[in-house]
Amino acid sequence: MNLARQIEQYLPRQLLKLVRDISGQAAKLEQRIYLVGGVVRDLLLGYPNFDLDLVVEGDAVKLAQQVAETSQAKLLAHHRFGTAKLRYENFTLDLATARRETYARPGALPAVTPGTLKDDLIRRDFSINAMAISLASNDYGELVDPYQGKNDLEHCLIRILHPGSFNDDATRILRAIRYEQRLGFELETQTAQLLKQDIPMLDTISGDRIRHELELIFKEKLPEFVIQRLGELGVLQRISPFLKGGGWIAEKFGKARRLKKPSQLPSLYFCLLIYSFSEKDIEQFLVRLNIPAKLSRAMRDTLRLKTSLPFLDKPSRKPSEIYYLLREYEPVAIQANALASESPTTQRYLQLFLTKLRYVKPSLNGEELKRLGISAGPEMGKVLQLLHKAKLDGEVSTKADEKNLALSLSRSQKDGR
Ligand code: ATP
Ligand code: MG
Repeated sequence: MNLARQIEQYLPRQLLKLVRDISGQAAKLEQRIYLVGGVVRDLLLGYPNFDLDLVVEGDAVKLAQQVAETSQAKLLAHHRFGTAKLRYENFTLDLATARRETYARPGALPAVTPGTLKDDLIRRDFSINAMAISLASNDYGELVDPYQGKNDLEHCLIRILHPGSFNDDATRILRAIRYEQRLGFELETQTAQLLKQDIPMLDTISGDRIRHELELIFKEKLPEFVIQRLGELGVLQRISPFLKGGGWIAEKFGKARRLKKPSQLPSLYFCLLIYSFSEKDIEQFLVRLNIPAKLSRAMRDTLRLKTSLPFLDKPSRKPSEIYYLLREYEPVAIQANALASESPTTQRYLQLFLTKLRYVKPSLNGEELKRLGISAGPEMGKVLQLLHKAKLDGEVSTKADEKNLALSLSRSQKDGR
C-alpha cells in the first residue's frame, strides 16, 4: 500500500518540505529512513499528529548532523542511544537509529544494539504503533506493516506483538488502556487476557516510569475514562492499594477541565486522584511514584487542607480569617479542595482566596510609612500587618484611608508602650 498522496495531504507544507529534505540527505548517505509509530497510526486514522518520529537504518545522529548543517535546525544528539532531535521554529523531529532490544529481566531498561527496521518495530508496544512509512525515493510512501497493524486499526484492536510483552515492560499495561480509551478501541482477546494476568508485573516498574505513564494519561482529553478503566481492571490498586477510579474522579476531573488551562491540569488531577487518601497513606504513594518535591507538597497540602475545611463552612468568615488559613497551602491544593468540597460556602471562600485575597497587599510601602514617621523594624512590621488585615476585610480602600489608619495605629502603639 502506498501512502504518498495521504502524506502530501496530511502534513503541513513546512513539515512536508522538511521531510523531503531529510529524505534527500538520507539518500546521499545511503541510509533508509522511515516515519514510524504514532504518526503512521494517526495518518491512517485521519487524526492530526505532527510529532514526527523517524527511524533510520544506519546512523540517525550522523544524518541529523548533516541536516542541521544545511538548515536552521537546532540539533540535540545522544550518541550513546543513537538518537537525535532536530528543533525547528514550529516543529521538532525525532530521529532514532533502528535498534534491537533485549530485556535482561522484567521491567529493566532493555539492552540496545543497532538493528533493522523490522527489529525496531517488533520491540514496540502494540501492532497499531508498529507500522512505518518509507521515505526513501525509490519507494516513497510505502507502508511497512509486518505485524498487521493496519488490520488491527480497521478492527479497532489493541494487540501486543508477542506474549511476553507486558512481562518485559508492564508500563504497556497503562499504555494499552490509554490507547483503548483514547481511540475507543478494544483489547484483542489474548492481549486482554495477558494484560490481566501480568498486572502484578507492575511491581517491577520504577516509580519514575509509572509516574511518567500517569502524566501521559493526564495529558489525554478525557483521562477519567482511562483512570476508571484502570480501576475496574485492578491496575490502579496494584500501583497503590488506596487508589480508586470511580465516578467521583470522573465528575471532578471533568469540572477541573472547565476551570483550568491544560498545562495546569496534571498536578490538579494528581491532587484529586489521592483525595480519598489519609495523610498517612499518601506518604507510601509519594515514595512509590517518586513524586517530585513541589507536587508532593501540593498533594500533602491537599489532604491537610481537607481536614481544615469545616472551618470554612460557616457563612460569617471574615476575608482575613480565610486568608490566614489558606496562605500556607499550595494554590493547586486549594483548587483541588474547591472542586472536591460539596459546600457552596466553602467553595466560594476557596475561590475568593484564589482569585482575590491572595493578591491583596497594602498600597503603602516602607518608604511611605517612614515618611509618616513610622520607624523601620518591629513597629513598621506590625503596622504593615494590620494594614494588610484591614485591607483584606475591606476596612480601608483608598491610600488616604491607609495613611490615616497607619498614623492611628502608630500612635496607639506608641501610647501603649
Ligand atoms: P502518542 O504520543 O499519540 O500517545 P505515540 O505512538 O507517538 O503516541 P509515544 O509515547 O510518543 O507514543 O511513543 C512513540 C512510539 O514509541 C510508540 O508509537 C511506540 O511504538 C513506541 N513506544 C513507546 N513506549 C513504548 C513501550 N513502553 N514499549 C514499546 N514501545 C513503546
Ligand atoms: Mg508521540
